[in-house]
Amino acid sequence: MVQTRNTSNSRKRYSPDINLNLNVRGLGQSATLEINELSAELIRQGREVFRMGLGQSPFPVPQVVVDELKVNAHQKAYLPVKGLETLRTAVAEYHHRHHGIDHSADNVLIGPGSKELMFILQLVYYGDLVIPTPSWVSYAPQAHIIGRHIRWLPTCSTNCWKVTPEEIERLCESDPQRPRIIILNYPNNPSGCSFSASELKKLARTARKYRVVLLSDEIYGELHHEGHHVSIAKFYPEGTIISSGLSKWCGAGGWRLGTFLFPDSLKWLLNAMAVVASETYTASSAPIQFAAIRAFNGGLEIEDYLQRSRKVLRALGRSLASRLKEAGVRISQPQGAFYLFPDFDGFREQLRSKGIENSVQLSTRLLEETGIAVLPGSSFGCDPELLTVRMAYVDFDGARALAATREVPLAEELSQEFLQFYCGGPIEAVNRLGDWLSELSA
Ligand code: GLU
Repeated sequence: MVQTRNTSNSRKRYSPDINLNLNVRGLGQSATLEINELSAELIRQGREVFRMGLGQSPFPVPQVVVDELKVNAHQKAYLPVKGLETLRTAVAEYHHRHHGIDHSADNVLIGPGSKELMFILQLVYYGDLVIPTPSWVSYAPQAHIIGRHIRWLPTCSTNCWKVTPEEIERLCESDPQRPRIIILNYPNNPSGCSFSASELKKLARTARKYRVVLLSDEIYGELHHEGHHVSIAKFYPEGTIISSGLSKWCGAGGWRLGTFLFPDSLKWLLNAMAVVASETYTASSAPIQFAAIRAFNGGLEIEDYLQRSRKVLRALGRSLASRLKEAGVRISQPQGAFYLFPDFDGFREQLRSKGIENSVQLSTRLLEETGIAVLPGSSFGCDPELLTVRMAYVDFDGARALAATREVPLAEELSQEFLQFYCGGPIEAVNRLGDWLSELSA
């Protein structure tokens, strides 16, 4: 008879060895989600924390879209892998209205968040991933997990961290035939900056010259603070995939609904991605897809919601950036989304005397000494020694702020008093940061 062994030693001996895929070994949880959970834990412990780590929309999902979800709660069938036909039509029409791009439902792929679609794109495409530094925290780890070669494009703070056609040219000319996906994200996470139409035209010319696949991450397009978002697909339609979704402009990050729009010339990628989708997540959640039709169809309520959201983000972004500038920090005024990417290089000496020499130390000490939770620039691919951090200005009651904008005439900018009252968290955080910096110099 076999004896049962219950000691922890024997359990160790009989349990499976640790055999992890090499690409996953040593990887930590995504920086955005990790800082979010750490902030929540500190708050549970009674600490005061300004949650500027995770980039989650402060605004509620528009009521008309929530209502649509309610009436569709009973939808229970598996939907087509590529997405519900009516939703795909709504997404194609949305892009037609916004970008003048003439595509149909056949050009659209729906997924459980654009993040998952990006992962599958990298999985099915055989080539390098090219990303500017700084870039959103998950592009590079996804390439790493799949085992793709990553090439970084340098940018510079004086150009608002925007990649230039010259940098793309420099990279591509050394090996012009190499297959590549280049990701452009605008309005940008983490900098809040965006490209003008003429900048996009020039970037498109270089992309076309090297026949690269452009993944145009336009998840913040609707949150361009002036409502002036332009897509590069206008200038390089044959090579551009537009990535979007409900997470940011519709305040529905947790709903997990992402969209990719492909030109006819890249339908082979759409089809290959759908094969992987069919063998992995099957299809996105049915009730969410039905509700998303309402969001992409737009209309007066949605336009009004967007105008008010932009108004709050524009005023708040400007106010925070100018407070930081006043404090001596190098920063560009954001043009979209809800991020700031300050550079503390001017304080290098004072910070060094406090034992802070890189962005991880900077963000850790900021959290410990001021309660401000941010992400280090190194999470976005920056040289660790660069003293940059990303601040997401979303820690306020967006529903209350949106409702209060109704009291202010549409053409009037929101006052500092308004911001102080309705967006007090980020304002207080930046004031504390300013005080912390002046104590450093004292
Ligand atoms: N895009 C958001 C951010 O950069 C969070 C979403 C995520 O990382 O999944 O903070």
